[in-house]
Amino acid sequence: MTSLPGRTARSLAATAALALLTGAFAVPAQAAPAASNAVAARTAAAQAGVRLHSNAELARALQRIARSSDGRVRVRSVGTSNEGRPLWFATLGTGPKRLMYVTQQHGDEPLGTESALQALATLGVSNGKEARRLRSKITLGILVRANPDGHERQWRYNYDPDADPEYGEPGKGYDINRYHNPGMAPADNPVPEAAAIRRAHDRFRPSIMVDYHMQGRYAFPPPDGREITTSILWPTNVTVPAAALASSKQVGVRVYNAFTRAGAVVSQYPGGDYEGIARNAYGILGGASLLVELSNLPPERQRFQVWTAYVSMVDLAHAAGYGLLDGIDPADADEIPLRGPEIPGTADARSAHAHES
Ligand SMILES: [Zn+2]
Repeated sequence: MTSLPGRTARSLAATAALALLTGAFAVPAQAAPAASNAVAARTAAAQAGVRLHSNAELARALQRIARSSDGRVRVRSVGTSNEGRPLWFATLGTGPKRLMYVTQQHGDEPLGTESALQALATLGVSNGKEARRLRSKITLGILVRANPDGHERQWRYNYDPDADPEYGEPGKGYDINRYHNPGMAPADNPVPEAAAIRRAHDRFRPSIMVDYHMQGRYAFPPPDGREITTSILWPTNVTVPAAALASSKQVGVRVYNAFTRAGAVVSQYPGGDYEGIARNAYGILGGASLLVELSNLPPERQRFQVWTAYVSMVDLAHAAGYGLLDGIDPADADEIPLRGPEIPGTADARSAHAHES
């Protein structure tokens, strides 16, 4: 399958326009190489993978975007990690359609954060007619890098040496993406990062939540055999209201098409139904909710991964703002192919967890 229904000429044109827009933002954290060594430097940089923003660099990059947006992108801390690092929430737009994205709940799944910086720049910095028109239709909030302590240590959990968690690892920390139980008040949540996401959600009141993660490496079974670059899934808990499930699947189909058009190979993600997973929790709370998993491809393909996730973020904002989700048949989501087996020899520390997102 190359595309699902819901693809339109208009959305293709929008993606093409965005592709042009993004040239200016495609390389946010790279020093400009000397001209004589430009090709070699670019090649080396590509092989080395995406240079990730440190926590301090992330704060500076967000402030830079806020400044160059002339106040159109607003950045504030919506809480602190267990070690006291700020959790940044960047918002833009004044429109009635409200979307919230979350990146990097798991500290060793960093690429969605890099995509988010580029999406904020594209959607917030330009003051051209199209950008202004879109911002009048949407309000977008991105919680950028929900787990700065885990990022610091390049591990999955937050950092809480006193933790003896049901989900997580004793002496290390909690798995933030297991502590979103809808019935748990933020004040009672042992995981400050999960509590901050919930508080931000409750204040921001998005109708669409998308949570960006990373997974191991998988392929479709023969004869297809292609490596899967992205997997997605909507809420699967049985208590999710039917309307929320339907709108989640509409978002899923749109996101599937955006990734696919950008060159990604997309499958469903085989996720569980536990209500503490953000994908399920925010569906149970009544909104559209989607999980996105970027595969942990080799370094030379990380820029592609960042790019495709960026396209999905900008495209969904556009589709939501212009009412393009309503015409999608939710049942089309069920046609998205299931994830194939792990590619032999690619198991790493992350896939050793062998559980969701
Ligand atoms: Zn994850």
